[in-house]
Amino acid sequence: MPTLRVCSLYPELMNIYADRGNIAVLRARCEWRGLGFEHAAASLGAPLDPDAHDLFYMGGGQDRDQIAVAHDMAATKREALHAAAGRGAVVLAVCGGYQLLGHSYELGGDELPGVGLVDLRTVREPGPRLIGNCAIEADLGTGSRVIAGFENHGGRTHLGPEERPLGRVLAGHGNNGSDGFEGVHRDNVIGTYLHGPLLPKNIWLADHLIELALGVELEPLADQQFEDGAHASARRAAGVQARLN
Ligand code: GLN
Repeated sequence: MPTLRVCSLYPELMNIYADRGNIAVLRARCEWRGLGFEHAAASLGAPLDPDAHDLFYMGGGQDRDQIAVAHDMAATKREALHAAAGRGAVVLAVCGGYQLLGHSYELGGDELPGVGLVDLRTVREPGPRLIGNCAIEADLGTGSRVIAGFENHGGRTHLGPEERPLGRVLAGHGNNGSDGFEGVHRDNVIGTYLHGPLLPKNIWLADHLIELALGVELEPLADQQFEDGAHASARRAAGVQARLN
């Protein structure tokens, strides 16, 4: 029976908005199907084995925690993350974690390094924080689907010209509040500003990531009551009417 091996990066520092709920959902979806699930963590100073995990996860964080994480990640995990992404492992990063997947996060005259897995830069530009419920339309090879969640970021993210966003903003601010796009998606690397936590509110995405990470096709579960309800409620909060998909 295949086992999903998940590694959380800096879980004690990058975990605001209950983003660790994403891990709970991955575990439950695997266990309910009789798949194995292993969860490891790699924090400050710890080396990372690119072959030891199928899915690498990093949640959101405050600026002050990102400062410590950014330098450590560039120094101790950059190469392993490139190797892992290069062999098709899934990398999922939310908000503060997403910002550190790019080249840099500029704030208050400082430039924090990113790991350069994707071509993007984040800048603390003048202006209010981008806060609120958000819904986007994304196509991950699954047909067009809605991802709904909650965003709260001071940084504005700008993708390089060849980089693809995760989706198109239906409601909310997205990457920078101006270009109408949200997140990043390159191969099996996904970054997004959407908390919620993300996966409990978008259960199709949780299953899709497990499929990508394990190279399997999953049978659907009975999601009609709770999981579909959580998705519909996140969409309603963003003002994007639920439709069947
Ligand atoms: N500290 C970052 C910002 O404000 C990320 C915030 C978050 O992860 N919610 O842009």
